[in-house]
This record gives sequence, C-alpha cells and structure tokens, in this order.
Amino acid sequence: MATERLYYADCYLREFEARVVAAEPAPGGFRVYLDRSAFYPESGGQPSDRGALGGIPVLDVVDEGDRLAHLLNRQPESKTVKGEIDWRRRFDHMQQHTGQHALSAAFEKAGGLKTVSFHLGAETSTIDLDSDRVGRRQIEEAEELANGVVFEDREVRILFRGAGEANRMDLRKPTEREGDVRLIEIEGFDLSACGGTHVKRTGEIGTIAARRIELVKGNTRVEFVCGYRALRSARRDFLNLSEAGRLLSGAADQVPVLAAKQSQELRAAVRAREKLAGRVAEYRVAELLFTVPLRNGRRVVRHVFSAEELLEAKMIAHAVAKQPSAVALVAVKGTQGAKAQDVKAQGVKGSSTALFFAQSAGGTADMSALLRQTVARFGGKGGGTRDFAQGGGVAEEKLEEALALAESLL
Ligand SMILES: [Zn+2]
Repeated sequence: MATERLYYADCYLREFEARVVAAEPAPGGFRVYLDRSAFYPESGGQPSDRGALGGIPVLDVVDEGDRLAHLLNRQPESKTVKGEIDWRRRFDHMQQHTGQHALSAAFEKAGGLKTVSFHLGAETSTIDLDSDRVGRRQIEEAEELANGVVFEDREVRILFRGAGEANRMDLRKPTEREGDVRLIEIEGFDLSACGGTHVKRTGEIGTIAARRIELVKGNTRVEFVCGYRALRSARRDFLNLSEAGRLLSGAADQVPVLAAKQSQELRAAVRAREKLAGRVAEYRVAELLFTVPLRNGRRVVRHVFSAEELLEAKMIAHAVAKQPSAVALVAVKGTQGAKAQDVKAQGVKGSSTALFFAQSAGGTADMSALLRQTVARFGGKGGGTRDFAQGGGVAEEKLEEALALAESLL
C-alpha cells in the first residue's frame, strides 16, 4: 500500500494522525509504514525529517518508491499513531531548499549557469554550477538577484501537472518523471519539478548568502546559507573577526591589513633570527673545533643537540664544513618539540629526530653513503650529496650511539 505523502500538498503540516499498516524488523529497530505521512524522506539533496510517531523518536525516513519507511527503535503500540515533525529542523530545510531554487534560478538568469547538483548539509548547503569559470562578480550578481526576490516576498506555489504538459511549460530543467509531476513555482521567477519541502513565500527564506566557492570536477561548487543559518554565520564571522582584531590590537575591519603587516613582520623576524643563529653557529663551531683533536688529518665534530637547537644544528653542520679538513656529525633530539617553522624550514617533518652529516668541500668521505649506512643500522632514513646529507627516524636514545658508529666508519 502506497503512503500518501501529506507534505506534497502541505509543507506546513507539523502534526498528523495515521494508521500503521506494517512494521518490519530492520537493523537498528523497525521500519514502520503508515497509510499517510507528513515525514519527508531523504531525497533530492534534502535530508530526511526527524520527530516522533506515537511518542517514539523517528531516526530516519526512507523513500522506497511507493512507500515511506519510518525507522524507529521500537514498534508503536497502537494501530493509530500521532506523527509530530521536528519543526525547527524541517523549517530550516525549507528555508535552505527554497533558497536553493531562488539561487539556482538567479545563476541561470544572471550568468546562464546551470545547477547540476544540490546538497543540503548540516551546516551549509552547496550547488554545483556547470562551469569552471565562475568569478566573485558573477556570484555577487546572482546573490543580489536572489535576495531581491526574497525582499519582494513572492508567492511560492505547488502545482501538479502531467509530465507531458509540465515539459511544455517553462521548466528550469526538463523533468524525466512520468505521470503526475509536482512543480514548485516562485511567482514570475522560477518553475522547477521538485518533490521537496518549500516555504510559502520567498520572504520566509530570509537572507541568501553565498560563502566559499571551489572547483569540483570541472564544476564550480558554491556553498550558501539561508535564513537562520545566514544570521548565525554572520554573527559567528563577526565574533571571529572581532577576536582576530582584538589579538591584532585593531578593529574587525582592519584585520586583513593588520594580519598582512604582522605576517610581514614575522617573516622579517624569522630572517633576522636565522641570521643571528648563523652568527651563533660560527662561534659555536670555533668552540667545538677547538675541543676536538686533529685525527688522521681532520677534525670531527660530533654532537647531539636539543630540539630547540634544530635551526642552529643544521647551520653548525654547514659551518663546520666551511672549515678546512673538518667533518660534522650532528643530531637533534625530538624535532616534534622544535618550533614548527624550523621543522618546516629544515624539511625534517614527520621525524622525531634529525641527523646532519657534512664535510669540507672535496673531503675524502661520502656523507650520503655514511648517513645511509648509519640509519640502516638504527632504523631511520635519509640521504643527500657527497658533502652534505640529512636524515631522521633514529630513536632519541640511540643518537649518541649512531654518531659514534658513523665516526668509526669514517
Ligand atoms: Zn525543491
């Protein structure tokens, strides 16, 4: 027995009485079938309704063609049940869905852009437009047009027509359905075949606001919010911007300028720090070289640095290699504790420790081979050139041992 879909004719029906015609066990509970229902099943990009049947929460509503299945965790006790729709959720969906009709029609009128798909999500909704060249200006134009239709508070009508007749009408997109087709008309603006739930007048949609745009498989995906969602996202954006402004010691509308300035200053500070670290490295190299004896005609600097010294460690390795007849075998403990920008800059991300081997240009050893030999023994990886190599992944407590081995292999 087919379920009479009460929302087809009246999207504002929040409560109804119905007869239970079947209840079948299903994963998670029971599929309950009624002779009539105001519950909307997931379909056409719009999620299913929630609410209750005979006081039992409705967990999902599934469109099975002729019938609607209401998923409940237990069976209703009586043959006649009262259905109650979670109206907050439903009305929100009606705002987003009707907003989508207006926005899709606006894109078509303003830029000849066709909507190829629609998805109504928990936070935002999206439409995909059949073009990979949709710019901000086109988005704003469509947004203005759609909101104009909202402010004119036009009527949104539900019509039923035979498929043949419907396809002779001015549909935004031809319908492939047969038999009676349900049409949604925004007075003087849009006519679409649609089985979803919509508001009665465009004023109820509230503001339609486009958000992020991104390219997806050659189409442009436009994220948007309507009604309460638009209000909440505007509020959240303002609070976030105000907080960003407070952190940057300025007003919300100055955030982009202040953030740009600060990031410029940060880059300059990083450069200055690198320069200083380079100077410090030179002094430390002089000190380190002074403490190691000349052996087999060269000096080997062997040292394990702390995580905070990551930047300096690599510089020291290079600085040692600038001295005549010198080799640097240095390691850094726990790079995860090091400054994020240093880890990124030194290219040692994803490794808990780092190793840097360097020798004076034209030295007799092969740093790359030496490093690979060393990490092969201690379970890490790395490589480089004859004069400079780097690696990681050696356990922190094995670093001293690894460097000792490397020196013995020289
Ligand atoms: Zn619709």
